[in-house]
Amino acid sequence: LPTADEVAGLWEHRPNPAPASPEQREEIFGSLSFGVDFTDHMAHAVYEEGSGWQSKTIEPYGPLTLDPAAAVFHYGQEIFEGLKAYRHDDGSIWTFRPGYNAHRLNASARRLAIPELPVEDFLASIVGLVRADEEWVPSIPGSSLYLRPFIVATEPFLGVRAARRLDYLCIASPSGPYFVNGFQPISIWVSPDYHRAGPGGTGAAKCGGNYASSLVPKLEAHGEGFDEVCFLDAATNTNIDELGGMNVFVVYEDGSVSTPALTGNILEGGTRGVILQILRDRGVTVREETIPLTSLVADIESGRAAEVFACGTAAVVTPIGRIAGEGFDVSIGGGDVTKSIYDQVTAIQLGHEPDPYGWTYRVSA
Ligand code: PMP
Repeated sequence: LPTADEVAGLWEHRPNPAPASPEQREEIFGSLSFGVDFTDHMAHAVYEEGSGWQSKTIEPYGPLTLDPAAAVFHYGQEIFEGLKAYRHDDGSIWTFRPGYNAHRLNASARRLAIPELPVEDFLASIVGLVRADEEWVPSIPGSSLYLRPFIVATEPFLGVRAARRLDYLCIASPSGPYFVNGFQPISIWVSPDYHRAGPGGTGAAKCGGNYASSLVPKLEAHGEGFDEVCFLDAATNTNIDELGGMNVFVVYEDGSVSTPALTGNILEGGTRGVILQILRDRGVTVREETIPLTSLVADIESGRAAEVFACGTAAVVTPIGRIAGEGFDVSIGGGDVTKSIYDQVTAIQLGHEPDPYGWTYRVSA
């Protein structure tokens, strides 16, 4: 990947004439949650058929003016990413695997008939935005600046076809520690009726529609008293796919670890890849395989499955303490391997441990 200094000047910078005051920022930092507060700037570029991506700018954060006929409002041609910038103890600012997110954005783009954004531009937008809003990267333990790059179809046209004008934006939101009450296990409800993706669908893409369709099952899970919903594969309704926004891992008593194989219906999480790599380097036997729900439940009941956890950018790793669905309800104890993975990944992200993988990416000194 090009370094931050190499891409920093590629996008024009139009400073916000009325940025938040240090006092306003401190007030926001005093009660950080997730996705509520936004920084002074955003990255913005426009794609027009024939001229490609242009007007690449870091500009003041603010509302967009869009034609009501903009295609995204009608047919949902939209993709997004999520990654974080962290402040290290020496004050320097780093992101984690931005190249991975750049490539995944483009993989999603290909599925949604959206023009790809060059990796160099993706990096330039991230570096330009984070440098412009450096003061917005919190240093409170467990906090970070969440970055949300996305592409929306903005061509005003009601025909169902790939849009010829699209906007790329990246916005940033300071976010607080995920585990406010410590490393709490979550409960998951296995949806009997709904799937997030089916064969040939958009499950492997990070597009808004996947999340819109997960809302009803999620409400159902909440209604049953559970934190999150777990989806089974749509083809057979028998195998574990993933949660609405996290991948799933199972740790067995013999020390081996499994995660559902990438079938084309699952989103390939960056955190999933990091955990697979870390476990392999620990000498752990890891399997990417089909995990039938019935086997998982039986393995939890027999004690063969010792830990189950979910993973994603937001929480890194979340222990799963209970899994239930129609006709079953099982609890899982344990948590040593889950905790050790959490500790190792966050130590690399925060620069507390060397990064032999080149995952951390310095944005500013
Ligand atoms: N699955 C889904 C459906 C997700 O939305 C996410 C969050 N991006 C993940 C898995 C985890 O991906 P990552 O580790 O890249 O955050």
